[in-house]
Amino acid sequence: MRTLPPLAGGTDGPDALRPLLDTVLDALRTGGADRGGPLPAGGPEAVAARVEAAAGDPLPDHGTGAEAALRTLVTALTQGAADPADPLCAAHLHCPPLAVATAADLAASALNPSMDSWDQAPAASVLETLITGTLAREVYPHADTDAGTAPDALVTTGGTEANQLAVLLARETHRTTRPVQLITGANAHHSLTRAAWLLGLPEPIVLPTPNGTLDPATLDEALTDLPGPRLVAATAGTTDAGLIDPLPEIADRCAAHGARLHIDAAYGAGLLFSPHHRAALTGLDRAHTVTLDLHKLGWQPVAAGLLAVRHPTDLAPLTHQADYLNADDDTEAGLPDLLGRSLRTTRRPDILKIAVTLKALGRTGIAALVDQVVALAHHLARLVDLHPGLDLYDTPTLTTVLFRPTGANDDDIAEIRRRLLTEGRAVLGRARVDGRLWLKATLLNPHTDPGDLAALLKLVEGHTPR
Ligand SMILES: *Cc1c(COP(=O)(O)O)cnc(C)c1O
Repeated sequence: MRTLPPLAGGTDGPDALRPLLDTVLDALRTGGADRGGPLPAGGPEAVAARVEAAAGDPLPDHGTGAEAALRTLVTALTQGAADPADPLCAAHLHCPPLAVATAADLAASALNPSMDSWDQAPAASVLETLITGTLAREVYPHADTDAGTAPDALVTTGGTEANQLAVLLARETHRTTRPVQLITGANAHHSLTRAAWLLGLPEPIVLPTPNGTLDPATLDEALTDLPGPRLVAATAGTTDAGLIDPLPEIADRCAAHGARLHIDAAYGAGLLFSPHHRAALTGLDRAHTVTLDLHKLGWQPVAAGLLAVRHPTDLAPLTHQADYLNADDDTEAGLPDLLGRSLRTTRRPDILKIAVTLKALGRTGIAALVDQVVALAHHLARLVDLHPGLDLYDTPTLTTVLFRPTGANDDDIAEIRRRLLTEGRAVLGRARVDGRLWLKATLLNPHTDPGDLAALLKLVEGHTPR
């Protein structure tokens, strides 16, 4: 008889996993050393050729066995990765996950709780309730703490799903009247416009943001011109420039006009943990809903999004019944009803890695990471500012630094970025701000040091056409 492949769970799971994990860890080490930089050299074709060669026949008639498959494919994936743990990988809001969070995520995979019903996740669902409540109180520190009226938070796959849910909750709040009109700034994340499209709402009103943030006076005019149910979506940490909209003023205008307010803090919410920086988020708690994304300034492996909700009654529209998951009599008998916590059904316990991280590092440990990456951004901005051949867009608010070689045109900028990518030297982003293209460094790696930042600028200098 053939032996069956071992399982990850059960009492035998750990013993089956240990040698496989050794293989995985070896492959991560070897693959990373082979790459020797922030991303693979050679561009898309070279990477595709290497991965295809390693994969061979992706579905062979007879398998290679676990050891060989893990070694081959994990090595190939590591060789060809853009590794956010490399200090020169700094394009996107793509954070290097903490080892402790990744270790916790392994347990999530091994146990495989599914968060859609209590009988699939007895302990994980309790942990999720604890942690979402804790994070909701971070966002809304002055709100009610009574069960039933205290703020709450839902776990999402990221900012996109959290923004979608926020728009959905706004739509449902105004269900009986007219469709809600979404109003955002041109600086808002693209997922908001997509959410309006997905949810069948009118075309969003997108207000110009020439200075990078939503202007309260412009918003006031739009709200005056547009009576009826409205959802204003402001941003705390824009994706392109890391800017924070003037939240208190925006909240004032929304309150004066009776508009609902959502704040997309997918990037900026990490500042909540830092006593030095949390004041930049003043006004956040005046929003009805807030998007958080701990796979950005939270050092979690993907996915780790949340939507915080000030009034838990706003979540009522998500209530849903499927007899096999939350039958009335089960709920009456005391089994928690979890189906209304998401639009997904089967759902990973992403809360575990978050819970472990919060406990392992504590408030001060997380604050230190936040403070460190903000300080790094300021350091890079100073280096750019002092450099005779580089122009700085502005002093950073969060951890994004926009810069360009003096005298370079937009085509040069795009070309510098692509050459650095193709040569496997550095991963920089690009952002169109004030009508021009800028190189973008998003600093999320607390292990980056000033020497790395100097090296990054040297690379840009060396790739700038004269
Ligand atoms: C990253 C980002 C999002 C989208 O989040 P995902 O986790 O990628 O879905 C939404 N809003 C802002 C401001 C972001 O920076």
